[in-house]
Amino acid sequence: MKKLWYLMLTSIVLLALFSTMAYAFASEHQVHLMVVEWYGRGKGRVIIYSIPSEDDSMTNPDYKLLPFWWHTTIKYWINPKNNYGFSTSAVVTTITSAANTWDDQTSFELFAYQGTTRKSAGVRDGYNVVAWGLYINPQVIAVTYIWYTGDTIVETDTRMNTLFKWSLTGESGKMDVQNIMTHEFGHWCGLDDLYDDKDYWLTMYGYANYGETYKRTLGLGDILGLQARYGA
Ligand SMILES: [Zn+2]
Repeated sequence: MKKLWYLMLTSIVLLALFSTMAYAFASEHQVHLMVVEWYGRGKGRVIIYSIPSEDDSMTNPDYKLLPFWWHTTIKYWINPKNNYGFSTSAVVTTITSAANTWDDQTSFELFAYQGTTRKSAGVRDGYNVVAWGLYINPQVIAVTYIWYTGDTIVETDTRMNTLFKWSLTGESGKMDVQNIMTHEFGHWCGLDDLYDDKDYWLTMYGYANYGETYKRTLGLGDILGLQARYGA
């Protein structure tokens, strides 16, 4: 039995709503927006009983697919502006590493980093952006916005909430950028969260904790999910 101080993090599908705005390239199909919030700062302690005591991610084949995914290479930009003292190069290295962790497991040309930007995440502007920004819900660590039409994603942004402390090195009491972004990029790839305790060691496990870094590397289920969409 394993007792953990635990953040009650949960990634939920907050809304999948019809867009009422007229988007330039949504001529035939309506574009929908799904927001995946990742919660933290839950109060209280949760005792977890059934988390595997040893990392079994390399033998756990579990994954769950979202009903939409990118059908083309994902061009993305990084806004490195931060209040944590991270250099631009360190931010870019960390976040591109998270994306490449997925790209390395498929022959599909999945992610194509385009450079830095001053654009915000969470705005439908034709740019796929990773950025820090304030998110009004103080329990949300990171939020991924997915705009899609039918089964095709047309834009993805991830905002890392500036209400949290962030680290590039897995420091305790802070959210590790690569850990969180590897998980969030999984959503960009069309993977959904897993909530069963038995899936704890997978990157797409839907809970996270301060100082955690094990989601930087993919487990078997993460890879199988990716390859279900993009091939080996
Ligand atoms: Zn998630």
